[in-house]
Amino acid sequence: MSSVPEPASLTARRHRPVIVLQDVVKTYDAGTVAVHALRGVSLSFDRGDYVAIMGASGSGKSTLMNIVGCLDVPTTGRYLLDGVDVRLVEEADLARVRNHKIGFVFQSFNLIPRTSALRNVELPLVYSGLRGKERRRRAEEALAAVSLADRASHVPSELSGGQQQRVAVARAIVTNPAIVLADEPTGNLDSEATTDVMSVFDRLNADGRTIVLITHEPDVAAHAKRVVRLRDGSVVEDRRQAAVAAPPPRLESSQPASLRA
Ligand code: ADP
Ligand code: MG
Repeated sequence: MSSVPEPASLTARRHRPVIVLQDVVKTYDAGTVAVHALRGVSLSFDRGDYVAIMGASGSGKSTLMNIVGCLDVPTTGRYLLDGVDVRLVEEADLARVRNHKIGFVFQSFNLIPRTSALRNVELPLVYSGLRGKERRRRAEEALAAVSLADRASHVPSELSGGQQQRVAVARAIVTNPAIVLADEPTGNLDSEATTDVMSVFDRLNADGRTIVLITHEPDVAAHAKRVVRLRDGSVVEDRRQAAVAAPPPRLESSQPASLRA
């Protein structure tokens, strides 16, 4: 260990948690009965962490992910994204934060059919203010990051499941978000495609991105640095498997002003 202390500002930036949930409760009003999807969840994820959320069907995983992704709000409790209480953010600003800080990947890929991989990946940039040529360059770069540069002109039906999911990951990272959230990203994939997709998540994390993914599969959770298990809306296990590396600073500085949240 070096005896020279690093500047406090750097320490603060590296270790500041990017996601903080404080006693988050989510109750759905389903007609006559209330469904207690989350019963007081408190969690803190540091920048650069790689977290697998596990738990049986109905345990609250997607509800948690939707709150972390600012797609839904807690019934009670607080959610701080990068130190900001999302409840205090105007809806229009929240959409901007969501679009620029967070990339989403879903089990079912959600690609637009009959539209090339390149166009699919470019879509999140359409309202970014970037010119067409720059959008295209960034989409090509994102496809290269998932090792699909040679499939840019293929439409989804011409790609395997694993390739389609890698296109979806490229679409999630094209805006250069610091956080990538994935809800059962390998749920529709065979084991070979699962390995391909997980190696992409591993690389994104090694580049400093914070990854939170939901999975049922122990093999997938083994890639994460931390495993959080939910049961009936509560955290019943929170286990660290590997240390969080300090993310390289370039993630924070490489976005054009138009994409910075
Ligand atoms: P998981 O992703 O772990 O399968 P969910 O977060 O989707 O679990 O759901 C947790 C609980 O909340 C389940 O009982 C589910 O039926 C319920 N639930 C989820 N979304 C809604 C909703 N929009 N309205 C009512 N109940 C819901
Ligand atoms: Mg779910």
